[in-house]
Amino acid sequence: MVIVIGIKEVEEPKKQIPIVGSLKGILLVAKHLFEKPATVEYPETKPYIAERFKFRIFLSLDDCVGCTLCEQVCPNLTIHMQPVDRENPRNKRKIYPDVNFGTCTVCRNCEEICPTDAIYLTHEFETSRTRNSFTYSPEELQNPEDEVKR
Ligand code: SF4
Ligand code: SF4
Repeated sequence: MVIVIGIKEVEEPKKQIPIVGSLKGILLVAKHLFEKPATVEYPETKPYIAERFKFRIFLSLDDCVGCTLCEQVCPNLTIHMQPVDRENPRNKRKIYPDVNFGTCTVCRNCEEICPTDAIYLTHEFETSRTRNSFTYSPEELQNPEDEVKR
């Protein structure tokens, strides 16, 4: 038996200049040149923050009664009660919550359960810092972000 294997000659594809594709690309770039940018020059320009966005937790030391409910309800041990030596007739045990923003999932359980509205989340989001710990002491939670040690 004889097997003949034929080799079919294949034509080389014609070299084409991708003029149409290039023109489309140029037109697309030109179109975006005149559109409003989707980004902002942060931090000079503050980005739009949605009304419902919440992050940085604040604490009113005067309103906190040291009930520990926020610590108990936090699902991931982000809050720990700390002793703070300050006079507050509403907080006889002199204990207040701290918050580790490295683990906070912004679930808002602490805010919802607090009987005195002492702990609450705000629109503040610029918490970047160089220090090792993301844990804010009770006093730091009470201060504005630019007064917290970085
Ligand atoms: S927002 Fe949620 S995760 Fe964050 S501290 Fe409060 S209870 Fe804990
Ligand atoms: S912040 Fe509110 S829930 Fe937490 S210990 Fe103080 S009073 Fe209780």
